[in-house]
Amino acid sequence: MPEPNPEYKTEQSQQQSTQQQQLESSPDHHPERILIVEDETRIARILSIELSHEGYVVDTADNGRDGLDKATNGEWDLILLDIMLPELNGIEVLRRIKAAALATPVIFISARDTTPDIVSGLDLGASDYITKPFEIEEVLARIRVCLRDYAAKNQTAEPADSDELRLATLSLSTKSREVSRDERSIDLTPKEFDLLVYLLQHPGEVLTREQIMQHVWGYDFVGDTNTVDVYIRYLRRKIDYGFKPQLIQTVRGVGYCIKDPAK
Ligand code: CA
Repeated sequence: MPEPNPEYKTEQSQQQSTQQQQLESSPDHHPERILIVEDETRIARILSIELSHEGYVVDTADNGRDGLDKATNGEWDLILLDIMLPELNGIEVLRRIKAAALATPVIFISARDTTPDIVSGLDLGASDYITKPFEIEEVLARIRVCLRDYAAKNQTAEPADSDELRLATLSLSTKSREVSRDERSIDLTPKEFDLLVYLLQHPGEVLTREQIMQHVWGYDFVGDTNTVDVYIRYLRRKIDYGFKPQLIQTVRGVGYCIKDPAK
């Protein structure tokens, strides 16, 4: 067993000392629940032990069908999903989770580390992608980031002030998730949408691939930054091709920038 993380311990005792306030301010506070869908017993066991040790409530499934069952019938804060699984592969499990309109964040854990796998996983709406073999500390860090982002998104979904982002004839509503250009409605995948939001929040600013990777896919994503280029291409095809002017600019050797060239 690893040494308990001192930082975590401090947080725990602080939590205990303010327990009364917490109970009043968030009556539905509960330990976060994580589902692990993994057919390799050894890996499932390690994850299960480590996550329980961190205070998460954990359950496991060792094939895709059971995983999908548990994912759709239980309440989870996060799902760790292997790709190569018996019965139903992880990509298909994620597809069906999304089809069931579940917003639970999913992190892929897989030995398949080629860009097309990463891209197709993320394109389906996975929050992150961890390749095997992994360091448990890295997995824990990503889980924390993912849970924090998810909680933050849910909180910031409430205030309605600036939910409209506009540039030239492009407009996006973070509330209704509608995107249009020249008043024509445009369909974006969840990641394309997140990418466009990030760009539109920084108009005229050159963003590096690493910055984009970090903000759209989460801190410390190990996939190479080609993923960013692939997504920029998808996005251009939808919001720029066939329209004038072109809003997404490539800044050679640096990254990308969204701006209205007329201004
Ligand atoms: Ca597997």
